[in-house]
Amino acid sequence: MTDEKTATQEQTIGAAIRQGPLPPGSRIGILGGGQLGRMIVLAAARLGYRAHVFCPSSDEPALQVVEARTVAPYDDLAAINAFADAVDVVTFEFENVPSAVVERIGARVPTRPGWKTLHIAQNRLREKDFLCGIGVPTADYREITGIDGLQRAIRDLGTPAVFKSAAYGYDGKGQVLIKPDTDLREAWAAMGAELGILETFVDFVTEISVIVARGLDGRMATYDPVENWHANHILDTTIAPARIDPRLTMQAEAMARHIAEAVELVGLVAVEMFVTRDGRLIVNELAPRPHNSGHWTIDACVTSQFEQIVRAVCGLPLGATERHSDATMKNLIGDEVADWLKILSEPGAKLHLYGKSHARPGRKMGHVTRLTPKR
Ligand code: AMP
Repeated sequence: MTDEKTATQEQTIGAAIRQGPLPPGSRIGILGGGQLGRMIVLAAARLGYRAHVFCPSSDEPALQVVEARTVAPYDDLAAINAFADAVDVVTFEFENVPSAVVERIGARVPTRPGWKTLHIAQNRLREKDFLCGIGVPTADYREITGIDGLQRAIRDLGTPAVFKSAAYGYDGKGQVLIKPDTDLREAWAAMGAELGILETFVDFVTEISVIVARGLDGRMATYDPVENWHANHILDTTIAPARIDPRLTMQAEAMARHIAEAVELVGLVAVEMFVTRDGRLIVNELAPRPHNSGHWTIDACVTSQFEQIVRAVCGLPLGATERHSDATMKNLIGDEVADWLKILSEPGAKLHLYGKSHARPGRKMGHVTRLTPKR
């Protein structure tokens, strides 16, 4: 046997091992160092996995709890390559990691979800085109590249309408409500990007989200749809389960599973939806990662969303998503975190703090989940 053949065989064996379940002790690479990363690290540790966080800043919540770190910009290719070579699988905790970086990592080590899933989810136009292509209802929308186009689209779709940046939007950033008297030049400036999307304003009664996990073998596990209430465009409260018609619950779960299959997901996807006044579901956004509206699962489900992503990306069987308690999750935003001591004395309240030192307005400092026995 030549050396060349031996090397090829070794690569094949290595690839085969990487396809199967990664055993405890393996290293999970996480792109992003926020609270979602922190909670993935903690869940991974509970199952005996080690984690390595890659993030651009040294002052990040996940870095306080992780064994290995790389602090470098996402475009530092030498650091990215070294990170990929130091871990057995890579996942991400937020959408704004460049998908080309995830593609590059994917050439060295499995990335779950894959870069194509991320690529779809990080641009609202691509996301909506994709959803329409697989028969999932969204708000009517138009691509906008300038003020003239914005004017035409408003004539077409009418007002009120919501004007958003196509990329890098979250928590309502880069978003403007267009009314009949809105100054379009100001709206364009406030949107703040080269490429935008105009959407019809959906007259919703409530917003819900569904989180579905999909494993390496294509099996799926779905959490109960939950109701989401926002304040200043930031998620404030999640109520689990959503108080909606059981028919809509089933439809929402089926829609989320359909999307997870269509994007060939390995990992988690949170699907945000509107429930319209006339009882229809309209998908607003996808997030292919753990989601703020899934934090309640830590305390109210057999398997939390964070344990579930570890299971999915390591090729393990997915855990039961059954809800053993009803739950209300309240984000502690800015100064609300000052109530931590009071919350600790409340029976049935589970406090989670993210270790952030400064409580700036709008900053998610922690959350509290209040449990009640399942009805
Ligand atoms: P997004 O950044 O797309 O998640 O939007 C943030 C929030 O703005 C949503 O949770 C909704 O409350 C609201 N919103 C976004 N798009 C629309 C829409 N087309 N119609 C009505 N409300 C919207």
